[in-house]
Amino acid sequence: MVRRSREIERQVTGQATSDGAGVRLTRVLTQDLQCRLDPFLLLDAFGSDDPKEYIAGFPDHPHRGFETVTYMLAGRIRHRDSAGHEGVVSAGGVQWMTAARGVVHSEMPEQENGLMQGFQLWLNLPARDKMSAPTYRDISAADIPIFTDADGVRVKVIAGEIGGVTGAVSKPVTEPVFLDVELPADRRWAASLPTGHNAFVYVYEGVVGVGDPAVSVARGRMGILTTDPAADGVVLRAAEPSRVLLIAGAPLREPIVQYGPFVMNNRAEIRQAIDDAAAGRLGAIPPRNLGAREEIQ
Ligand code: MN
Repeated sequence: MVRRSREIERQVTGQATSDGAGVRLTRVLTQDLQCRLDPFLLLDAFGSDDPKEYIAGFPDHPHRGFETVTYMLAGRIRHRDSAGHEGVVSAGGVQWMTAARGVVHSEMPEQENGLMQGFQLWLNLPARDKMSAPTYRDISAADIPIFTDADGVRVKVIAGEIGGVTGAVSKPVTEPVFLDVELPADRRWAASLPTGHNAFVYVYEGVVGVGDPAVSVARGRMGILTTDPAADGVVLRAAEPSRVLLIAGAPLREPIVQYGPFVMNNRAEIRQAIDDAAAGRLGAIPPRNLGAREEIQ
């Protein structure tokens, strides 16, 4: 039950770019929105059935100071990191990596053709946790709780809690909510959201009316939601079958200093991260266990 809906404050069209060793993607949440959407630092959307646009992947590279959340809709990516973690994230699954004080990792396609589609979200860590030990979780599609309502609205609860369903991931401090909402045609659904959270939607199929009265957000667009202290959630409507990510988190209100794959609170910490990475202090990915690879083929 939502008494008053948040509204669309602003719509954003993502920027086509490439990253890693030449992976084509759309950067939806860009650096200029990091303060407005605190604690979120980045959202990339990728989707291609042309291997040339993804096959080079993201070879060994470092991260420090935040978390990366990869949500796959189609295809498979193998993750390996310097903390000794390895896993494959496949369709419907999520990989939640807390880089914290730092890892070197690789994110490489585990396929030579076919569709590769999904998202990567960067979630900031509070200053006190930026130098904690790195952690890593693979969450398969089957382990993501699903909320359904009587109208056939289907919500994958990746993080947070909705309608009494607790998501796969619960985090203190930033208390992220990460929902993949599937609306059949001519349906309306209202999601409760904590009032202090910054929140946004990203429509990736169909077109979604957001707020009350509704403002249409088309496929491929992000809608930043107002932070009205009187609004206790957001109303979503669809005239045609639609899918939308609804993402929210508690702002950290700490300084954000980003240099590429490092996000810290000040420039001295960034210089330290660059020095540590250059000196190999973030470690290296262990040699590949070829026996293990053969088993899964
Ligand atoms: Mn990475």
